Amino acid sequence: RAEAALEEARRAGGRRIFCSADSAADSWAEMAAALSAGEFTVVYQPIVDLRSGRVTGAEALLRWARANGTRVSPVDFIPRAERSGFVTELGRFVLETAGREAASWPVPAKITVNVSGRELHQPGYYDQVAATLMTTGLPPERLVLEVTESMLEADSPVALTTLRRLRALGIRIAVDDFGTGWSSLSRLDRLPADVLKIDQSFVAAIAPEATSAPLIAAITALAAALGLRTVAEGVEEQHQATVLARHGCEEVQGWLYGRPGDSASIRAALRRHVATDAPVPGEPLRP
Ligand code: C2E
Ligand code: MG
Ligand code: MG
Ligand code: MG
Repeated sequence: RAEAALEEARRAGGRRIFCSADSAADSWAEMAAALSAGEFTVVYQPIVDLRSGRVTGAEALLRWARANGTRVSPVDFIPRAERSGFVTELGRFVLETAGREAASWPVPAKITVNVSGRELHQPGYYDQVAATLMTTGLPPERLVLEVTESMLEADSPVALTTLRRLRALGIRIAVDDFGTGWSSLSRLDRLPADVLKIDQSFVAAIAPEATSAPLIAAITALAAALGLRTVAEGVEEQHQATVLARHGCEEVQGWLYGRPGDSASIRAALRRHVATDAPVPGEPLRP
């Protein structure tokens, strides 16, 4: 496909057209080679129940380490992959890898997978997810698909229908980076979602001496009114966890609880929490 894209770019002639089409084809070809060379891997970051301290699951995050040892951040390569279209291949790889991984975990915890806008808007996405559940043996109730608020703003009927069908199957939908977009309240009310992920910028903004955080209070209240759960991202400090608990946030993820790690590390985290029922540092403040 990369070759075909290159060929098409050449045929298009004109220097300017050639350049932009060529770079998309180059980007596709480079990532396709990297994927088959095993340069892409999936890491897992624990997600923790704030009240009980139990690990409830993990988020799958893609990593790219080039053969020469340099690492490329997903913040750089995901947008490039979106432009070239290769993100659908990466998405398939992550869903299959993470699905297989979670299906063989020692406990039936949830696995969260990021979905790109390109994937969600393509008509065959529902079938792809359903087929992956079949081949990996992962029950739909254990899969959480993470979409961003901005993806839903495009108001695509295909995306909304896909989300509704996925939910009907038992898959949960999480809205990531919540609060950074411009969703209207009327749209939120119709959102086919189960979880709101509180963006890490709101968590980072909690001052060390703060006893409350108005925006986090507003988001958790909104979520409760809509019947959605809340998961906060980027929790690095104990005082942030304390304020989140006070405002009724249910689950957390961040360096305070664990960095993204390989298959062995997430398995160990799941086993440890089942074995000891260890509480998270910091008391839950809600009755
Ligand atoms: P995201 O979905 O919001 O993922 C959370 C990001 O926060 C991850 O960055 C994670 O490593 C980071 N993080 C977790 N805990 C902390 C913390 O305590 N402090 C700070 N400062 N950061 C924390 P990462 O892995 O670099 O991924 C960045 C973004 O790239 C993700 O944001 C997601 O939008 C995208 N991405 C990553 N993997 C995939 C993938 O498989 N598919 C797609 N479509 N996008 C992906
Ligand atoms: Mg995400
Ligand atoms: Mg995330
Ligand atoms: Mg996020």
